[in-house]
Amino acid sequence: MSQLQSTTSMRDTALFNQIMRLGKTLDNNTATTASCAKCDDTGWINTTKDGYEYSSKCECLVRKQSLERLKSSGINNYIGKTLENYLAVTNEQKAIKKLASEYIASDTLSNFVICGKSGTGKTHIASAILVTKIKKGRSGKYISYKEFVRTASAKARSWDEEEYFRYFRAYANPTFLLIDDLFKGSEKTKEVNPAHLTYMYELINHRYSKGLATIITSELSIDDLIGIDEALTGRLLERAGENVIQIQKIENQRLSR
Ligand SMILES: [Zn+2]
Repeated sequence: MSQLQSTTSMRDTALFNQIMRLGKTLDNNTATTASCAKCDDTGWINTTKDGYEYSSKCECLVRKQSLERLKSSGINNYIGKTLENYLAVTNEQKAIKKLASEYIASDTLSNFVICGKSGTGKTHIASAILVTKIKKGRSGKYISYKEFVRTASAKARSWDEEEYFRYFRAYANPTFLLIDDLFKGSEKTKEVNPAHLTYMYELINHRYSKGLATIITSELSIDDLIGIDEALTGRLLERAGENVIQIQKIENQRLSR
């Protein structure tokens, strides 16, 4: 009997350690896992003033909650991407970094659109924006376009409407949503499966009407996006204002908007 128990507990310990290691990595190696002397691990600090007792969140709880949001955001693969580790050598890269850091510093819920060929660092910039916003306490999600339309199609085909809407809401409602590689797979044909367009339109339209911020990356140019769907792209751009980047060839250092 004890054999099974000890196996289970060994597995639990291994899993626990793994989660702890992940936590440390996610939190830039600041100690979140050690017990907190400030709050005795309750997460709250009580103070008494004028006979009243106040409790405020301990910084360890704030860190823990932001870590939880990061873990459930779907950004796992890009969690280490920050503006600090985005290499800005060319004038174009410097201008992109400046625009992104202004966006991060502001409280705007405008959209942010980055187009450019693969290898231009657009996902890095977009992820850095999302990660920073989540760390600041905003709700945020990452999804690749391909995964979204593939899963939405499958859910829609399942004939369980609630399944589809549950999935839809997970991406429709966060304050910040990063849709990576919009219209991936349409670089040559410049055409998109009409059903996939419908899912995207529902998502973008919902977020547009709620005034939520959508961050977009795409290998297609702005003109190509407009060519594929003028209404959808129009809505994205309308709420992006100045935050539209068309990255030129990697070796050509110009930023145009
Ligand atoms: Zn604490």
